[in-house]
Amino acid sequence: MRTVYFDHAATTPVDERVFEAMKPYFTEEFGNANSAHQLGNNAKVAVEEAREKVAELIGASPAEIIFTSGGTESDNAVIKGVRAAIGKSDVITSPLEHHAILHSAECEKRRGGKPVYIEPDSKGNITPKQVEEAITDETALVSLMHVNNEIGNINPLREIGAICKEHGVPFHSDAVQSIGKLPVDVEELGLDFLSMSGHKIYGPKGIGVLYVRHGSPWIPWMHGGSQERRRRGGTLNVPGIIGLVKALELATDEVDVNLEHYDKLRKRLLKGLHNRFDGKFVINGNPESSVPHIINLAFTDEQGNGIDGEMLLLNLDMEGICVSNGSACTSGAVEPSHVLQGLGLDPEIANSSIRISMGKSNTIDDIDYFLDKLEAVLNRMMTTTANA
Ligand SMILES: *Cc1c(COP(=O)(O)O)cnc(C)c1O
Repeated sequence: MRTVYFDHAATTPVDERVFEAMKPYFTEEFGNANSAHQLGNNAKVAVEEAREKVAELIGASPAEIIFTSGGTESDNAVIKGVRAAIGKSDVITSPLEHHAILHSAECEKRRGGKPVYIEPDSKGNITPKQVEEAITDETALVSLMHVNNEIGNINPLREIGAICKEHGVPFHSDAVQSIGKLPVDVEELGLDFLSMSGHKIYGPKGIGVLYVRHGSPWIPWMHGGSQERRRRGGTLNVPGIIGLVKALELATDEVDVNLEHYDKLRKRLLKGLHNRFDGKFVINGNPESSVPHIINLAFTDEQGNGIDGEMLLLNLDMEGICVSNGSACTSGAVEPSHVLQGLGLDPEIANSSIRISMGKSNTIDDIDYFLDKLEAVLNRMMTTTANA
């Protein structure tokens, strides 16, 4: 059966060119970058070259780059590490953030921390003014993502960064979904901390980057050997580092071609949706300010009732189509996505939503195939409901 993968915001395959670049570091060049001998030195040289490239691509200096195990670790390290260094309570963030941020911020309550949530509007917009109003003497950190992984919204980081700077508040962004898609320069965006991940940009899983601006209030929480200037203990994941950096370079070099491709796919998808399901779907989030490859859709029947998004996902899966709904299965009950809940959507609409996230290898034909299957599945589901 044909497989159509529309879940690139969850993970991507490793690009063949990335895989090729990584290979030697699993086998011949397997040295520990901390070893004093030749083999160790080869690994160290490769890692330091990689570090310079990442730094250059985001406008940082190499000493500000720390390799981690992924976006989750980088996010945890910022929330916990800044709070520990500053001692102030408030972490200003939003309910639309990734769980790596939200659960870290909630966990800080045990150490006297206080998450402060900026309320987005129903399209997920957050304004710089809201951030400014939330800042107090107790603000330890502002943490807001660049691109939302479920609805694709882009946050106005540049403006928020300027406000944070003006108030002397450290500013972090989870840029896992924007890296390689939007320009990310820590100076231009006014960032003190940034998180990225390898596997969302056709690199390997289990590798990420944490950018820490020189002089920022931050203490490490992962202790071990002297790796990463004593800021992140643990033997360096050399193949992972090489892979992440190769993936980042490719994404940057090919960004225009990729974005143009996503734009074409998106137009085809939206046209097809309008032709076939006009009045029976809504786009969640703010399509006016979003990345082209992520589209979150809620489907309703003739009466305007939300269809069962979980059933829709499973039915599409049976046709070989991989999408996501961001829901969590908590103690047996399906909870709608926290992001859609954070928009204040009616739970029924939130539960009738699916996310489509397109990638480099998707084609116009994939879109048409999806539209055909979607139509068949929705018709089937609506007839079943009508007869029930
Ligand atoms: C995937 C993702 C993460 C987690 O990254 P991992 O490398 O999988 O730990 C964090 N934030 C966002 C926005 C993501 O999409």
